[in-house]
Amino acid sequence: MDENNLLKEFNTELDTAFQKAWHSEKGGDESWNNFLNTYGVTPLSKENKDFLLNSEMKIARGAFPIELRRVFEKIIGKYQVLESPILSSAISKFDMEAKVKEYYQKIKPFTGLGDIFKNAATGTQKYSQGLQKEKHKTMTCKNCGAPRLEEMQYDNCLFCGSKLFETKE
Ligand SMILES: [Zn+2]
Repeated sequence: MDENNLLKEFNTELDTAFQKAWHSEKGGDESWNNFLNTYGVTPLSKENKDFLLNSEMKIARGAFPIELRRVFEKIIGKYQVLESPILSSAISKFDMEAKVKEYYQKIKPFTGLGDIFKNAATGTQKYSQGLQKEKHKTMTCKNCGAPRLEEMQYDNCLFCGSKLFETKE
């Protein structure tokens, strides 16, 4: 196959994953899980999904961003080994954080004015609970803004999978 076709295939595959995640039911569904399975990606545990669904990182639809990221990683891995210069250049230009964030923007609920107040109230409550636990520092994901919970040991953001955290005073 010539390199341009490979590149086309690579982009189509990324786009298919994006669309599939987006059209999935909120938090993922059977068809999305089967799709993950074809890439050898394990879906989030039910425990983690329930935790995220009840967190302040509200979603209106679609699979969780971290699962889409895992699929992107598999797709990139698959094309990386082909050692094609055109592909390598496309892969190095692929901005994972931006792509995952773009996806998050699409699955976020539309917040009317009422929702803003509602979310602000629950957010503040959770935030102050967090503050009591962690004194005056909260670690948040630099990419999506999800708080990192110290009691849950993990290296990447549970919501979007980013490794980038920042400390907010
Ligand atoms: Zn995140």
